[in-house]
Amino acid sequence: MAECPKCQGRMEEGAPYVDMWGWRMLVRWVDGRPRKSSWSGLSFDGRERSDISSLRCDTCGFIELYAGNGAGADYGTMHLRAENERLKLEMARVMDRVKTLERIATDPAERTAREIEDLRDKDR
Ligand SMILES: [Zn+2]
Repeated sequence: MAECPKCQGRMEEGAPYVDMWGWRMLVRWVDGRPRKSSWSGLSFDGRERSDISSLRCDTCGFIELYAGNGAGADYGTMHLRAENERLKLEMARVMDRVKTLERIATDPAERTAREIEDLRDKDR
């Protein structure tokens, strides 16, 4: 199961919904800004709409929302896509540190001391 990006708690699947005097409806997504309509409340002008799936942290309550691309929101693929983006960012950060460490390992001592100090500053 997914881990909360705020507190590392356990993320559980759920759904945001609207309760209108006992009539319950799921919240959906529309691309762009909707216009007000006296007939239906909001006008979407034929724009793409999709379902939303979501995760909530069972520790801190943080909520993540995922909107599908036109069709229904598929929690599994959207969650994996978001996790993939997080991992890409983490990998880029790690690769940056590896490059710095490679430079340190192959450069003269004077420059090595400066690079080590730079790494210490990054951790603060
Ligand atoms: Zn959390």
